[in-house]
Amino acid sequence: MVEQTKEAEKIRQIQESAQPCFQCGICAASCPVFRVAPEFNPRLAVDEVIRTGTVAVTGREWSCAYCLMCEERCPMGVALCEILMDIKNLSSHDGKVPPNIIEMMDVIRFTGKVSQASSRTDKKRKELGLPDLPKPNVEEVQKIFELTGAADRLTRYREAEVDPE
Ligand code: SF4
Ligand code: SF4
Repeated sequence: MVEQTKEAEKIRQIQESAQPCFQCGICAASCPVFRVAPEFNPRLAVDEVIRTGTVAVTGREWSCAYCLMCEERCPMGVALCEILMDIKNLSSHDGKVPPNIIEMMDVIRFTGKVSQASSRTDKKRKELGLPDLPKPNVEEVQKIFELTGAADRLTRYREAEVDPE
């Protein structure tokens, strides 16, 4: 019940921040992801919230690369990246997390990094006289996963194995 109230309040906030949008489409025209994957359209995500007062949790919202281009160019100053981030959070409550994001969470949890530097990168750094990359404290990262509930969520996502559209 508390969760539902929080979710309704979040949707109300999203709707309020999307209100100034007049559907000019500049966000979609500026979006590098939309250019290569037109099934992800930031303008339609905003339109949905304004028209229905709900967020369409489709899984496509995870395609946003958070580059901020849409926000930068929106004539109405709509905080689109924040809206999309909120939609991702809501979709994660529903367990709608794409497999690649689950994989990435796992990698962070067990290595403390999003990805490992290749031996080529290490070699290049040495050639350039750069210091070795710092080693993350994996124990601390794992503790953060435990304390924030991310570890439990990961287990639930793995069990649900939701495949977003
Ligand atoms: S650029 Fe701004 S006003 Fe135009 S459609 Fe996108 S969010 Fe709406
Ligand atoms: S922040 Fe997301 S929606 Fe906005 S332009 Fe970048 S990829 Fe597209």
